[in-house]
Amino acid sequence: MTSEQTLSACLVSTGEEVLRGEIADGNNRFLATTLGEQGFNIEMMMTAGDRREDLMFVMRTGLQRADYLFISGGLGPTEDDLTAEVAAELAGVERTFDETSWQAILALFAKYKLECGENNRKQAMLPAGATILANPNGTAPGFSCTFELDGATKTIVALPGPPRELQPMVHAFLAERQGDTVAQRDDLFIRFLGLGESTLAEHLEPWTKEWGEVSFRQAFPEMEVKLYRPDPERAASLCNFAETHLGDYLLDYSAQSTAELFTTFMQQGSAKLAFAESCTGGLAAKTVTDVAGSSDYFLGGVVSYANAVKENFLDVAAQTLKDKGAVSEAVARQMAEGALTRFSADISLSFTGVAGPGGGTEEKPVGMVWMAKSSAAGTQSKCLHLILEREHIRLGAVYHGLRWLMEDWLPTYRNSH
Ligand code: ATP
Ligand code: MG
Repeated sequence: MTSEQTLSACLVSTGEEVLRGEIADGNNRFLATTLGEQGFNIEMMMTAGDRREDLMFVMRTGLQRADYLFISGGLGPTEDDLTAEVAAELAGVERTFDETSWQAILALFAKYKLECGENNRKQAMLPAGATILANPNGTAPGFSCTFELDGATKTIVALPGPPRELQPMVHAFLAERQGDTVAQRDDLFIRFLGLGESTLAEHLEPWTKEWGEVSFRQAFPEMEVKLYRPDPERAASLCNFAETHLGDYLLDYSAQSTAELFTTFMQQGSAKLAFAESCTGGLAAKTVTDVAGSSDYFLGGVVSYANAVKENFLDVAAQTLKDKGAVSEAVARQMAEGALTRFSADISLSFTGVAGPGGGTEEKPVGMVWMAKSSAAGTQSKCLHLILEREHIRLGAVYHGLRWLMEDWLPTYRNSH
């Protein structure tokens, strides 16, 4: 496949367990992301039970909508495994016995010292002319077959149901295709923080009107905008637009999350960091320590949920707590300053806010979070107004805090790579 070409695909998962919701449809999800990354446009995703007429319906429908149909499951040896049969019928060919696949099936049974049943021969009955996709992890081979349907060229790619068999097969199938690929281009990722999808889409509208649509992916609290293998001019234009109009929300032009970026940021310097956390309850510490290498710069933090802890472990003045309340600019500042001193850190960050669902007032509504950062250069504070549920508010606060610490560094970093 060349980078200029966009291929379309429909996805079909099969099986009664998937249809009834007994197992989550991991296969379509995997196929959507993996094929999407390879430049396929996914047009539709469907699930059918193990009934011939339903399989025929979804496969035919999928092929009417797209060049490729990726179908998972139904390659086993039993009566209800119908994928090869229906694919052959759609392709207008017979099924033929594939000796190589049969030998591979026999070898696998021998390896596990299992009896191979006569019905396993069925798994080697594949549409005539199909390309076999070997299955090193199971008995059923997959296959792909290309044929003309209503005057257009269509390809069915049939894959086994078990994810541990399907996933390597898909990677092998794609790697094989890459052989034909002309110069590969990288995807462009742009990550934003602090804008929802619809607002971001609105902001990007002047650009998309001229240059075409982008893909969005929510990676809460971040939004990822992606261009699949864009030509360099288009990619540069989008980066430029983002830099000029959305600079306050921009993180980076890569798939790295805020936490990963933050580690890169801290590792470039030698400053030591400490946290003072109230409403985030340790989430900031968890987030930075999720990334390997955080011990290079992270000293620790205080989870100062109760006022007494704010006083005793961070030296917040009892009078300030009384006068201003725990969720206040003054307390956030004292928390940050307390952490800086107590940990002998070079930089500290504090959070105090109303995570909800209860506890909000008109003056201090749910989602209001005060942050403060402190260093030898002084203390700064900032108020956030976050939305959605408790978990979103807490995670949003942490990510905004980390971005805040590296905000002067981010533009330089973005331009350096
Ligand atoms: P088998 O030879 O095991 O019968 P098969 O190709 O016929 O393989 P299915 O019978 O449809 O595939 O599914 C086998 C198993 O694979 C299921 O029991 C389930 O555990 C897993 N599986 C099937 N479809 C999916 C799916 N869409 N998402 C996640 N797991 C799946
Ligand atoms: Mg089966």
